[in-house]
Amino acid sequence: MSHKPQYAEVVVEIANRKVDRPFHYEIPAQLQEAVKPGVRVLVPFGNRELDGYVVGLVPRADVTGTKPILAVREGEPVISAELLQLARWMALYYMCPLVTVLQAFFPRTSGAGKKLIQEWCSLEPDVTIGTILSIRKRAPKQAAILEQLQQAGPFLVPHLLNITGADRRSLMSLVNKGVVRIDELEAAPAAEPVSALQEPPELTGEQERVLAAIKPKLAPPQYEVFLLHGVTGSGKTEVYFRCLSEVITSGYQAIVLFPEISLTTHLIERFYRRFGSQVEVLHSGLPLKQRIMTLERIAAGNVSIVVGTRSAVFAPVPRLGLIIIDEEHENSYQQEVTPKYHAREVAIVRAFLNKAPLVLGSATPSLESYHKAREGKFSLLKMGNRVEHKQMPKVLVTDLRRELKEGNETLFSNLLKEKLQERLQEKEQSILFLNRRGYANLVNCRDCGQVIKCKYCDVSLTYYATKKVLKCNYCGYTRPVPMECPECGGNRVRPLGAGTEKVEKELLSLFPQARVVRIDSDTVRKKGDYERLLGIFENKLADVMIGTQMVAKGLDFPGVTLVGVILADQMLNFPDFRARERSFQLLTQVAGRAGRGTGLGEVVVQTYIPEDPTVLAAADHDYERFFAEEIKLRRLMGYPPYSHLIRILVTGKQEELCETGSRVIADRINRYRGNAGAVLLGPTPAPLTKIKNNYRWQLILKGEDIKKMRQLVSVSLREAAQGGSLPRGIRLNLDIDPLGML
Ligand SMILES: [Zn+2]
Ligand SMILES: [Zn+2]
Repeated sequence: MSHKPQYAEVVVEIANRKVDRPFHYEIPAQLQEAVKPGVRVLVPFGNRELDGYVVGLVPRADVTGTKPILAVREGEPVISAELLQLARWMALYYMCPLVTVLQAFFPRTSGAGKKLIQEWCSLEPDVTIGTILSIRKRAPKQAAILEQLQQAGPFLVPHLLNITGADRRSLMSLVNKGVVRIDELEAAPAAEPVSALQEPPELTGEQERVLAAIKPKLAPPQYEVFLLHGVTGSGKTEVYFRCLSEVITSGYQAIVLFPEISLTTHLIERFYRRFGSQVEVLHSGLPLKQRIMTLERIAAGNVSIVVGTRSAVFAPVPRLGLIIIDEEHENSYQQEVTPKYHAREVAIVRAFLNKAPLVLGSATPSLESYHKAREGKFSLLKMGNRVEHKQMPKVLVTDLRRELKEGNETLFSNLLKEKLQERLQEKEQSILFLNRRGYANLVNCRDCGQVIKCKYCDVSLTYYATKKVLKCNYCGYTRPVPMECPECGGNRVRPLGAGTEKVEKELLSLFPQARVVRIDSDTVRKKGDYERLLGIFENKLADVMIGTQMVAKGLDFPGVTLVGVILADQMLNFPDFRARERSFQLLTQVAGRAGRGTGLGEVVVQTYIPEDPTVLAAADHDYERFFAEEIKLRRLMGYPPYSHLIRILVTGKQEELCETGSRVIADRINRYRGNAGAVLLGPTPAPLTKIKNNYRWQLILKGEDIKKMRQLVSVSLREAAQGGSLPRGIRLNLDIDPLGML
């Protein structure tokens, strides 16, 4: 007697809250085998046919008149039970339709799948070292291919060409010589025992100690979150490598995430050299077809290490044994479109569901993570020294107020001028860094340096030049620009800021002989501009590079011995409660650009508030001190990690409707929010008031109990919609614990 479930629960591919629930469908006899949780199916829906995902099987339907499933989409990866569970958690936590989460897991294909045949290259068994050596003399590119195969075993052809830099012609000539072979296979051919890949370097004492702490959780894997706080250049990557080999030799798979900007060819090569064809790379830039093939190989268990950006956290590895997130503080781990998830938060849940360890690495951990480590929720590991005894760059802070008093009205302090002069004489390179994110217009007092802040929210007030007012982007508080500084009574309250163009102009008037390259949104317009300009600097055809945050990250120029931060105040006072945290991270990163080579680097930070604790802590490379100061302020103002935030964004073509809609929602929330113990900020226009002809208004809910806050929001939104007072023509967008609120 069979008790096969007769009905499938299906979520359909419409991103609409109203249909965000499973619908019941009959399973026709011929599809009994194929229909299971995690497959994509075609179903009738109203008078249409839609794709959807099976999320469960049940013996009976709770409605009458169910329709049958029409077809099962073949040749697509099945979403595993574990990932389905993760998707459910995400939909609930981030308040988004389940189907949008499932769609984020796998890119969609159309029509039936094909077998996934790929080209694999391997050495013919009778090739000797002698053959390789003799080929090396005549054809170095071909020899590079042979050496790679000899070290790492069979390789996918595109990867092999990629890392050796050889072309297909060289490869084919090896095939013709009978030295290597290419097979078209679905999976990697059985590899001969792999001889040593790249020799691992010797570990430093610190690396040893950190590794010893992680090891007990690796094989067999156990859940634990490690926060690895290591200064730039302390050798975190080598620690990751050791953990990875431990995990994969015991038959598990691992996922390693990097921020978009640091997943460079150079980094990927390091992985290949160390782990050969056991590595696969997943990022959004891959062509769709290749991405699907890669996902298939991963789901089949044929990949031991998945290296990728944010969305690789969903990589369908069957036996997850470790997740690593490098530079865990980076903003690019948060997705800005629905589902608006944070890869670190997802990784914590996924590691927990799989009983696997998670390693978070950073030189400047996010306040949230460090706070959790302090509370004992994460295990804190520290590496405070650079490998090879390299020294941290020397950071000098200059006071722009004094420069002004002494009559220097240029963008360059005397100290920075002097240091630039030295570099030009010594033919060493400099980078001038300017943080500029467009919209943030601020005013500050030129006498005491202070920027005027909102007394309720502790964020800087934004200056609206047309109306000559200052306004808080969080709560809407508005005031005229004061004639006198509220801090010191000085009468020089002025708009703050400078652009890269002005920096270039002043630099050239000071040093007409300097060769300058400027990198910003004006000079980087078309594809290839960025690489071309960097190339000029890299090849030492320029003495000074001027740039925005584009130049701050991931770049490695051994010739640079001086970095100048033109105006730290712009980032320090960015109207966001995370401005100080971002500034500390950015200053640390920028400082890391100086002295990557052999010489000792110097950094000059120019500011109107040289006594600012964030600047001073960054200058001393003292994360602990920065954290101690900042966490106090967060607690005082009730910001994360002491609270959660939910942002409700209301957008539409007509501004009045956005405002009315926001007020209706605010009204509902205010009616109930007492029960949730939450505070409502706004409604107010969002900092970016209009994008692509859509006006934007926002409400920010702040509170400690995220569960109650979610409930409050969904009840309020539902009642606002049902009450009929919510205008048509607006769209609502929810953001749970957003990192930015532009
Ligand atoms: Zn003042
Ligand atoms: Zn405010």
